[in-house]
Amino acid sequence: MKQIILKLNELRRGKNTFQVSSTAQELELEDIEYPIVGSIDTDIEVYRNRNNYEIKLRTRFTFHLTCSRCLTEFDREFQDTGAFYLKKGEVPDIPEGMIKDEHVETLYVSGDEYDLAPIIREQVLLSIPMKPLCSDSCTVPSYDSGVDEMDSRWADLIKLKEKLM
Ligand SMILES: [Zn+2]
Repeated sequence: MKQIILKLNELRRGKNTFQVSSTAQELELEDIEYPIVGSIDTDIEVYRNRNNYEIKLRTRFTFHLTCSRCLTEFDREFQDTGAFYLKKGEVPDIPEGMIKDEHVETLYVSGDEYDLAPIIREQVLLSIPMKPLCSDSCTVPSYDSGVDEMDSRWADLIKLKEKLM
């Protein structure tokens, strides 16, 4: 997998912004449930305060999906945003029971480089929809109920619909 290295020493104090574009192949996302169309684009924002870094990632990409109801194939763009803190140094010993949310979201790095690729890959994986729908109103047409009670004028339309599908 390719690396997307953040060079901590080279970041200026305050806000730093970057854009990075990856392919599904580079992030080992070729064999997931739905193929990715085009590139995976990430906006990276790092706010540096001494050796503390607040990192925000906004990743955009398009899945080629299959509707779980009508089986229509369609492309849909997704966006995932995430934020975490990065600190240089060893993981502090936090007594059990003292762990707060702020500690869970803080990652520690010993060197001067941090690879963002696994985090971006995770953003894509967590966005895979369980039951994609081509539209909110998508329904599976049902022919076995209520057809007899239907106005006969609908019959031709139903046949036409069957041909189109
Ligand atoms: Zn559908």
